[in-house]
Amino acid sequence: MNDCLFCKIVAKEIPAEIVYETGRALAFRDINPQAPTHVLVIPKGHYSDAAALADADDGLADEVLKAAHAVAVMEGVAEEGYRVVFNTGPGAGQTVFHVHAHVLGGRALTWPPG
Ligand code: AMP
Repeated sequence: MNDCLFCKIVAKEIPAEIVYETGRALAFRDINPQAPTHVLVIPKGHYSDAAALADADDGLADEVLKAAHAVAVMEGVAEEGYRVVFNTGPGAGQTVFHVHAHVLGGRALTWPPG
């Protein structure tokens, strides 16, 4: 999509600190980190939110989730615990409408989230 921020990151039209990549998924550091590890994992193709990703075929949601876990391992937070969050819809705080998993770790994470 032409005006999608994360599509532009996939296309390398705007910079991002990419930490992991698979054939169909890309992981890069959040520009406004909320934890020592805060990485966004996206499908390279455009899906607006988690519901749309869930409807995608060919195991794409699987690939994104596996990439999120691989990032947690690479960042060294998998053992201590980490959080994977898909804000889905404006009411849940989604602001970028290209689905992304937030991978958060490296500090104590409280529950419930705000
Ligand atoms: P959400 O509110 O769940 O849609 O999350 C969007 C996230 O994208 C926020 O955590 C932002 O800090 C992050 N973000 C926005 N622009 C960029 C960017 N250019 N590079 C990396 N992360 C970004």
